[in-house]
Amino acid sequence: MDVANSTAVDDYFDNLVRTCNREVGLLKEKECFETFNRGKVGFLNVIEFIVLCEALFHDSEGRKYNVEKQRMAEIFASFDTCRLDYSFGSNLAPCFIEGPREIPHTWVGEHCYNLLSKMDLTLVGFLNVIEFIVLCEALFHDSEGRKYNVEKQRMAEIFASFDTNKDGFIDLTEFQACWKEWIAVICWPKPALLVIDVQNDFINGSLSMDNCPAGHKGVEVIEPINGLLENVTFDAVVYSYDWHPENHISFLSNVKQRPMDASSTVKPEEAKVGDVVVFAGSQPTEVVLWPDHCVQNSWGAELHQNLTVVEGAELVYKGTNPEIDSFSAFWDNGKLSETELDSILKKRGITDVFCVGLAYDYCVDDATRSIDPDTVSSMTAELLALGVEIINSDKVNDMARGYDRHPTLAISSAKNFNA
Ligand SMILES: [Zn+2]
Repeated sequence: MDVANSTAVDDYFDNLVRTCNREVGLLKEKECFETFNRGKVGFLNVIEFIVLCEALFHDSEGRKYNVEKQRMAEIFASFDTCRLDYSFGSNLAPCFIEGPREIPHTWVGEHCYNLLSKMDLTLVGFLNVIEFIVLCEALFHDSEGRKYNVEKQRMAEIFASFDTNKDGFIDLTEFQACWKEWIAVICWPKPALLVIDVQNDFINGSLSMDNCPAGHKGVEVIEPINGLLENVTFDAVVYSYDWHPENHISFLSNVKQRPMDASSTVKPEEAKVGDVVVFAGSQPTEVVLWPDHCVQNSWGAELHQNLTVVEGAELVYKGTNPEIDSFSAFWDNGKLSETELDSILKKRGITDVFCVGLAYDYCVDDATRSIDPDTVSSMTAELLALGVEIINSDKVNDMARGYDRHPTLAISSAKNFNA
């Protein structure tokens, strides 16, 4: 089966079922067996048998009767007189948790091989897409063992990402890479907390959120953030600072310091806070105007006094270039220069970043507050589309420890494996 061409597993099942509907009863016993024996190993495993059962049980118009997998597994067991192990899936979830807590991500030893053998239901030394889907289903559950539903198509795409030689199977070499880059990361993440701009000016200073249209109180983020810092072990904690020189381009008070581009609809004399102006230059620069805020070394630029600052934390400063603003903690708005954040995270081998702070519209939901209610919903949609998960702080601990495994991040990281 060619899943690389995004042939859905559902199609695979459908085809198989269609073939069977046509052919069961017509095929000789041996041919029928071969139709279902996808692993080509001379016997049917329980999953192949379940596919067979699903093809068998339908009404005269082809509508399937639903039969629990457990029932079909029991039928399988009745015919499996030599009692091959058919307890798939159910005993997999613990085997992800049982391993030592501190598994280095480079480790591809016995545990990895054991897992492959456990998953390799056809006992041929590699995984097919169905076995891989069983593995995914064992991976994606919350801390209480409730499964997250993931479409088979998504899981088949993940399978295709790790099937690097595109032969339709994941062999031991491919599985080792899959283990190291993906399974180990999902089960034993290295989490970082990014605390964004929890500074006086945004809380009760010149750009106080209390006065912004969303009516959020910036000070409300402090308690949940402190709670996270107290209760969750992070491999890195990073505080970002909006950190402007006095002559910064985004300050309304500086609007007359630079020549305006002819395309700017707002003139310097009439400019007010929130206006977007265009300054002249080799490349005209669009800038949103703010009151003076977070001026380097001023009270307004300090972190709020009630915010816990943990030992060994990293500090990242943005907006330090007077000529360009910076909403991102990674880049300035023109993507001209990078902050140290990226290298800090890479150096420490961080796999998951939890974002909290100010301002959401421009992260952990109850630990962020925003400026404008209109941009909140559009930002939420944008983040979700990027594969970002929006969560409440009470879920962070389980996620940071790998007990609660959301498929969203795992699916995007599998895509990156290929990119
Ligand atoms: Zn700023």
